[in-house]
Amino acid sequence: MNQSISPITPMTQLRSALFDEHKVTVFIKRDDLNHPLIQGNKWHKLKLNLQYAQQQNIDTLITFGGAYSNHIAATAYAAKGAGLKSVGYIRGAELAGLPETWSKTLLTAAENGMELRFLTRQAYRDKASKAFTDALHAEFSNGYILPEGGSNDLAIDGFSSLMNDLEQQQPNWTHLYTAVGTGGTLAGLIKHARYKKQRTIQGVAVLKQADYLLPQINRWSSKGLKTLGTEHIKQVNWQLLLNYHGGGYAKLSNELKVFKSDIEAQFHIPLDPIYTVKMVYAFYQELKRGQIKPGATVILLHTGGLQGDG
Ligand SMILES: *Cc1c(COP(=O)(O)O)cnc(C)c1O
Repeated sequence: MNQSISPITPMTQLRSALFDEHKVTVFIKRDDLNHPLIQGNKWHKLKLNLQYAQQQNIDTLITFGGAYSNHIAATAYAAKGAGLKSVGYIRGAELAGLPETWSKTLLTAAENGMELRFLTRQAYRDKASKAFTDALHAEFSNGYILPEGGSNDLAIDGFSSLMNDLEQQQPNWTHLYTAVGTGGTLAGLIKHARYKKQRTIQGVAVLKQADYLLPQINRWSSKGLKTLGTEHIKQVNWQLLLNYHGGGYAKLSNELKVFKSDIEAQFHIPLDPIYTVKMVYAFYQELKRGQIKPGATVILLHTGGLQGDG
């Protein structure tokens, strides 16, 4: 992978009368600026997986996603940079052979050398079945399968360096907000956060009924915790906010559209329409509802998502 990324992304203070009124200090961690194509959290999730692939003489990365998946775009680009082949299984058999119907995400992935294979919705649901996995291993004897969204144990540990950066840049943080798709990023932040009593990490689910993610987030965030050193043994408080999906995955209400352009105009920071807009909106709602105490130092994690169609 191209390692020439900025070593530490900016932590920018956001100033507004509303924040003064509530006596909170607010920063945005501009992780969208870490890499133009493997943006934000996707870079953290891929980096240890790529190292592993290179150590194991893997020649092909195999992964899964929808037509607008940031993870598909990131994996294609990362594989190319590492000299690996990549195969993307995409939800939606109707897209097969019709590149004129493809999203910019898919076109970019294909340009970066990813072989795209399209699955019916049913086949896509069965992608983790033994039969399908066996067939993949038979076809790609040196292949490495990354799950949908790229979330696995190595991805979770990719957030260790980001949490160290936060600790250096804003050691007094009390609240950290992040958007949640698979929950891999949230789990990584929880696992690698330094415990302080007054701290909390708030995950904002962008899909409906996301409480099914909780057991998996618990497993990921606590795996191997004891080996990390004393200050990590006590897990930081965290919460998954379930009510800010705004109608579901990739649904953007008029209210959210207006909110997005207001925020972008006020702070000159672009948000993506699927993840980060809902995260920032959730923070505003929680603040207005009095959920964030005066004196808090809030970090909004900009996880990227701006390289695709958004
Ligand atoms: C993929 C993505 C997320 C969600 O990350 P998970 O680890 O799947 O929860 C959040 N923000 C952006 C911009 C993303 O592309």
